[in-house]
Amino acid sequence: MRPVDRGESPKEEDGSARIYTSYGKARRDLIDRMGQYCSYCNQKLPASLAVEHVQPKSLFPALELEWENFLLACTNCNSTKGNKPLNLNDYLWPDVHNTDLAFVYTQDGKVHVNTNLNSQLQQKAQNLLDLVGLEKYEDNYTASDRRWKNRKNTFSKVAESLKLFESALSKGAGEEFTNVLGNYASENGFFSIWLQIFTNYPQVRKKIIQSFVGTAANAFDINTNAISRTDEL
Ligand SMILES: [Zn+2]
Repeated sequence: MRPVDRGESPKEEDGSARIYTSYGKARRDLIDRMGQYCSYCNQKLPASLAVEHVQPKSLFPALELEWENFLLACTNCNSTKGNKPLNLNDYLWPDVHNTDLAFVYTQDGKVHVNTNLNSQLQQKAQNLLDLVGLEKYEDNYTASDRRWKNRKNTFSKVAESLKLFESALSKGAGEEFTNVLGNYASENGFFSIWLQIFTNYPQVRKKIIQSFVGTAANAFDINTNAISRTDEL
């Protein structure tokens, strides 16, 4: 899951913090900052992203218009998460932690908690998967929930891209291909699948990280290795 940075609250031309009269008005600013991706499942969705409240607005009305409480979410992640009251410390969050370290993706389209994490972090990562329902696969998948299918299709696409890249590399055309790959990756979404499959190619990983607007800069070192953003992860 991509670690994101929404940045500070947007400013008006006179330098004052922008005040939203409704949360929907933050959508454009959030997309400018973090791209057209669901913050949780990481699908690219040009049209149907909603402003997501980390703490539900129904329970925390004071946070309804609060920039720091916003992410972007698809209908499926948003509706599964619903309006449950949350203890934020029970979860990992893509705007706080380095969630790229938290999950592993497999070719069957599934997402797994990274067993290299300590048990407490594994629990928090699992809580996040449960919260937004990212483990809906063949058996409990519905026509209106394309997340698993899209993840599976993208995994194949990325694996295919790796083969093509390695072939280009062997013919001395690796650099040109790398530039194309960055854009292709960001057009397709699912940031962490790209990083995982291109794990042996830091030059490509660097392009991918740059191409997805709003990826947290403090989540990767100079060699593109994922590093902790907080004391926890
Ligand atoms: Zn989603």
